[in-house]
Amino acid sequence: MMNRLILFLAILLFLLAATPAFAENTLRPEILPRVVKQGEVCLMRTAGPKNLKSMEGEFQGKRIPLILNSSGKFYEALLGVDLDTKLAKYQIKVRGQDKGGKGFFGVSSLEVKKASFKTQTLSLPSSMVDLDPKTLERVNGETKRLEDLFQRVRKEKLWKGRFLQPVQGEISTPFGIRRVINRQNKSPHSGVDLRAEEGAPVLASNAGSVVIVDDLFFSGKSVILDHGQGIYSMYFHLSEILVREGERISKGDVLGQVGSTGRSTGPHLHWGLRVHGSKVDPFSLLRVTDPMRD
Ligand SMILES: [Zn+2]
Repeated sequence: MMNRLILFLAILLFLLAATPAFAENTLRPEILPRVVKQGEVCLMRTAGPKNLKSMEGEFQGKRIPLILNSSGKFYEALLGVDLDTKLAKYQIKVRGQDKGGKGFFGVSSLEVKKASFKTQTLSLPSSMVDLDPKTLERVNGETKRLEDLFQRVRKEKLWKGRFLQPVQGEISTPFGIRRVINRQNKSPHSGVDLRAEEGAPVLASNAGSVVIVDDLFFSGKSVILDHGQGIYSMYFHLSEILVREGERISKGDVLGQVGSTGRSTGPHLHWGLRVHGSKVDPFSLLRVTDPMRD
């Protein structure tokens, strides 16, 4: 009986040791920066053999594909830390596999610190806040359509180099601010409002594909770009839209004009950003991609 048990354990140990996939601790992933605040973006990268079939990271249960950068030295992906992320030190696993099935594995960590989002109190016409059942149904449908979209990850990388600010103008409402509208707590501000004149051109922050052109209840005339690798940028409250769904866009192309459509109190651009579904501050993406070559 005892001999059988020992034999069984020996076989089990042999099988565990012989499992080739990801058994080797051979990658040294870096997270830059390793400490971020809620709502910020960072870069995950690792060196690795050039002929890999796949390389992916894992953060909060999300699988994030890394692709070889233009220098050919690093596999990279942007990582978005949602503004509601719990404060903690997170473990980030990275796994790769070559064409022969050999596995590579490495671990790094990312510490998320508290962002000090302020609170803004607003008064708006009740027709824009207390929604009748039909409008509520419309709003819920629009929200679901966008949330479903942000979960989709186009593996191809359409963006290149640094992202740019779509209009030059000061920030009128910062990212993440907690809003109390007509004494009701509303969801935090998931983008940045940039003050600009009605009709000012709105530029594409980076190359991408136009995935939404629509007139939405809250956002008014809206354009959403898919930059690939789970990165989406959005441009809301436009007065005019100059692109069509499905169109390929280069960085700096004019998407439309600044306006005040939807729920808006004056001409401005609401510039939003999602990275793998996470709501993040677009200015954080500008900082992280600033050193990147075009
Ligand atoms: Zn806004």
